[in-house]
Amino acid sequence: MSESRAQLIRENSERAGVAMSMHGAYYISLASKNPETREKSKQRLVNGLHWAPKMGVKRIVFHPGGYGGLSKHEAYEVVRAALREVWAHNEDLLGKVWLAPEIAGKLSMFGSQDEIISICRDVDGCIPTIDWAHLHARTQGRINDRDSFIEVLNRFEDALGNLFTKNMHFHISGITYTEAGEQSHRPLGSEWGPDLLPLLQIVKENGYKPTFISETPEPVKGALYAKILLEELESTEE
Ligand SMILES: [Zn+2]
Repeated sequence: MSESRAQLIRENSERAGVAMSMHGAYYISLASKNPETREKSKQRLVNGLHWAPKMGVKRIVFHPGGYGGLSKHEAYEVVRAALREVWAHNEDLLGKVWLAPEIAGKLSMFGSQDEIISICRDVDGCIPTIDWAHLHARTQGRINDRDSFIEVLNRFEDALGNLFTKNMHFHISGITYTEAGEQSHRPLGSEWGPDLLPLLQIVKENGYKPTFISETPEPVKGALYAKILLEELESTEE
């Protein structure tokens, strides 16, 4: 990234009325066994925070990484401490940019519902990214219908309140999975879960205003599919 490129991105997004979010580096591993990797991972988030306002970005989505051979409890404490440290260097950005840790699709990765909720509750400056495909894969397909979607949303809302409802950030895609969780992303609206329609119905009924990011193999197709489905729902009411 450069100053001029960042400015161009910000100006274009403002002109187009597009809310900008950024995906942090994929090689972040906050609880790595290797202390150098832990340091570099924090630095990558600090870098993201540095560039975000210049690019007009309000949310930095990221994967915290694996458990680094630690118990889940220990890994949680390491990740929490790392994120608090990242913010300690960037207090002036609190409230302007969010770090948005994401539900992980693989069971070997830090990022269960409870872990993401707890991090967002314990660290100022964090909001959750619910990746519905990852959640579907992580639960072996259980999260796939109206009741299970409502259960998830209630859990986040009960724990985080407005922090969640005012800053909803969702990833959507079809997905395949094994016992280990996520295998690969697939198109929306085909044979692969999770089923998007009930989720959109809930969003509409409750007047939620989430940002949806399509993570299908062809992201624009996924985004258009979701947009058309939502518009269809909105027009049937009238
Ligand atoms: Zn995602």
